Amino acid sequence: MGQDGGETLGLRTIEDISALILHSHDLQETLDNIVTLVAKRLRSDVCSIYLLDEDGETLRLHATRGLSRGARGITMKISEGLTGLAIEQRGVVAIDNAPLHPRYKYFPEAKEEKVLSFLGVPLFDRKAAVGVLVVQTKEARTFSKEEISAASTIAWQISSVVVNAKLLDSVRKKEEERAFFASELARLKLPEGAGHVDGKTFQTVLKGHAISPGFCCGKITVVNRGADEVPVLERVRPKGEELKRFQLALEKARVQTIYMERRMAEILSKEDAAIFHSHLMILEDRGFIGKVTSLIEEEYGALRAVSEVVAQYVAAFSRMEDPYLKERSADMEDIGRRITDALNGHEKKQDKLKENRVLVAAELFPSDLAIMDHRKILGIVTERGNLNSHAAIMARSLGIPTVFGVEGIMKGVGARSELIVDGTSGCVYINPEQRIRVEYDRLQREFSQKQRALEGMRDLPAETTDGCRVALYANIGLLNDIPVARANGAEGVGLYRTEFPFMTRKAFPGRQEQYLIYRKILEGFPELPVSIRTLDIGGDKELSYFPQPREENPFMGWRSIRVSLDREDIFREQLAGILLASPYGKCRVMFPLVSAWDEVQSIKRIMKEVQEELAAQGKAFDGGLQIGIMIELPAAVQIVELLAKEVDYFSIGTNDLIQYTLACDRNNVRMKRWYDPYHPAVLHSIKRVSDAASAAGKEVTVCGEMACEPVNALLLLGLGIRALSLSAPSIPQVKEAIRRISYEEARDIADRVLAMPSGPAIRKFLEEVQREKGL
Ligand code: PEP
Ligand code: MG
Repeated sequence: MGQDGGETLGLRTIEDISALILHSHDLQETLDNIVTLVAKRLRSDVCSIYLLDEDGETLRLHATRGLSRGARGITMKISEGLTGLAIEQRGVVAIDNAPLHPRYKYFPEAKEEKVLSFLGVPLFDRKAAVGVLVVQTKEARTFSKEEISAASTIAWQISSVVVNAKLLDSVRKKEEERAFFASELARLKLPEGAGHVDGKTFQTVLKGHAISPGFCCGKITVVNRGADEVPVLERVRPKGEELKRFQLALEKARVQTIYMERRMAEILSKEDAAIFHSHLMILEDRGFIGKVTSLIEEEYGALRAVSEVVAQYVAAFSRMEDPYLKERSADMEDIGRRITDALNGHEKKQDKLKENRVLVAAELFPSDLAIMDHRKILGIVTERGNLNSHAAIMARSLGIPTVFGVEGIMKGVGARSELIVDGTSGCVYINPEQRIRVEYDRLQREFSQKQRALEGMRDLPAETTDGCRVALYANIGLLNDIPVARANGAEGVGLYRTEFPFMTRKAFPGRQEQYLIYRKILEGFPELPVSIRTLDIGGDKELSYFPQPREENPFMGWRSIRVSLDREDIFREQLAGILLASPYGKCRVMFPLVSAWDEVQSIKRIMKEVQEELAAQGKAFDGGLQIGIMIELPAAVQIVELLAKEVDYFSIGTNDLIQYTLACDRNNVRMKRWYDPYHPAVLHSIKRVSDAASAAGKEVTVCGEMACEPVNALLLLGLGIRALSLSAPSIPQVKEAIRRISYEEARDIADRVLAMPSGPAIRKFLEEVQREKGL
């Protein structure tokens, strides 16, 4: 083994492992690379990583350097072999001459007869074992303290890689699942409203606010708050003792909050974890501490003092007009609960969920989500809470189907209830009837089969059978979307919606703050194009700190690029942030809802001025940054040939293009019948934009939801579109469809569609294509 000091060796390897993770595409590749690196660094003959299966008992060899190739996949129970011993003992197993050890077990597939010494270090996700790192050498030897310390540091790093990869995988699967179920359920037309009796089961359908889209079915866990209540008779100890108790509880709450912040930063991003930072500030706030302390001085017990002060803060926040600040009352309650829990001695336990469950609660706080193993949370249903709350933002980031505001849910469920949660429509089915369960199970089976078939798609090109290549980009909004997009084989980002980082803050982020976020996004896609779209607020997207004027018709009002051009101060900050990040990747900038040639001139003028300002400050940026505009308005379609001369690329936002072409609110369910992507007016508009771009030699992408349907992707290809930007989980299906067809056929589909007079006729025809092609 190596001669370096263990600490240096460990740290150096950790740095290399970090670099390695960035350059690997999936868990397997990462682990393969890690074993090679570790074997080399520790100069060992064998290095292997075993991971624990879902059953928690079987260890499976996932990656090895030095053992026979056929060994990969071999399994053993944790009760056998030295590797299992490391898990059983929950500690390092270091043995000079392994074959002499009573627990030694020989695995013929591994062909490890020539190795004698054995070092096994267990991998943990917090307290749960997830696998073992094994290092072996041919000669019998004693491992030094430094070497064991180095291997332990490396094991710690591997654990986080494994945990993150598993998490990602579950996030990705959930994304895919939810897209699939949303469409299948729409077809099923599940009944809404009244409950009815069906044999022994009684099904009730309740409606709430759809917070985080997706669909799930499972048993429930009620998140109970009974323990938070202050007992009517609190045993009050002497003043000094109560003060001490409060200080201690405060400290515990601080430590917990720091832990939650770290955990959220790991799972999501630093930005998403910022909520806990603000909790920390309150926990350290002199005003808050002072108020509690004075009540204790007045002979209050610590518990009552904390509860009183928290109640005052909650009441003050609730009175605020501003919806964002109003929501902060929930944060205050959350903080209060953390301190009272510590005072009561029932601090939150981690990993409360033993099995996958749907959480049901009167209200859910960010800390509930931070502390639980969210991989086991199938869905969330609460009575209170709304769209802007931090718990809602976190649920969305974690991709958990969520419905808030479901009146009567707490009374309506019992310990054995099962729920179907449809986070897309806001419907919650209590004890779904047999027919729906059966349907759900069938859908789930079909989905898993399809999934397996699609798994191999990631690294294949989206290319028709006659060699026409289509670029498949991802639509993203969160840092957390980066790995999901990469895992699905995205070839870059066709639309980065910058609204989200603006929505999670209390004020407009400055250029520096924005630069850091954009840089992370760009670095997440090395060598791949990333289109950063400037702020698209207004319509249905509000920023709590930026009051929109009260408008009769906000979608027709002051939104998107119009706001940016009116508020140049905000616009310039954003452009500066993007430009400062531009050297860190293949950055492009894109402007939403452009309606006129003059707007493009203004955009370009401001862009130029910001570039000059940065140049004067000696700041680096990409001078050749490509500029694109979104085609989302009929006005833009009508002057598209003119616009093509002004910009580097177009991106067709069909969500808005359909709404504005057909005068049909994209969010109004009653208008669903009229909101038709197949309306000939929409399809001819796309064709015109595609032709204009191709005549001018400019790229055109479609980035609206429409592109996510495989059959639509074929139609768009036939209309001349060679780049699509999709929600990442749709990429494999779309790719599969493209690989099944020739460009010739796609052209034929499009030609026939363009000749049809009505949307329903086109839909019928495309359904036939779908059947024929098995899509
Ligand atoms: C669109 O309008 O199609 C689009 C992609 O933009 P958004 O959905 O963000 O309005
Ligand atoms: Mg749009």
